[in-house]
Amino acid sequence: MFFMSRGHLSIDYRGPICGCGKPGCIEVFASGPAIAKRAQAKLAADHTRRSTILKWGNGSVDITSEMVGKAHAGGDPLAKEVLQETIDFLALWLGNIVDLLEPDVAIIGGGVASMLTPFFDELRNRLPSCSVNSRCREMPIVVAHYGAEAGIAGGAALCAQAFAES
Ligand SMILES: [Zn+2]
Repeated sequence: MFFMSRGHLSIDYRGPICGCGKPGCIEVFASGPAIAKRAQAKLAADHTRRSTILKWGNGSVDITSEMVGKAHAGGDPLAKEVLQETIDFLALWLGNIVDLLEPDVAIIGGGVASMLTPFFDELRNRLPSCSVNSRCREMPIVVAHYGAEAGIAGGAALCAQAFAES
């Protein structure tokens, strides 16, 4: 068992430069701000598109990932599109992790985990095309109990473990 916070693994060497300085980190594709930015870009690119997201915030400029999640829960097609793309990125990223580390379970935490939960089956179905390790077919994918606080909780657990072992 190990804890991972691997937002800074790249899935695209030509991708946008991440805040950490590397190109194409999963962070720039699948984080809350990335989800918000993609929704914003889709709405800005096509003004004829309707979305419940436009009801909140100041037009398309103040979109947050929470709005995308809320819109998807209400059946909004644009929000669904954005979250499905996020799953495409995550499948690629998780496939790399499975091939490298063979984890027993994938626990997805962070601020956007709960809004992606409805897509976990899809993520599981896409995984075999992104991983050469057949274990990806059996690996459970679950949402972190601590949600947005998962990173902090994992860090605290690691500290507690280090203390116990010392
Ligand atoms: Zn990064």
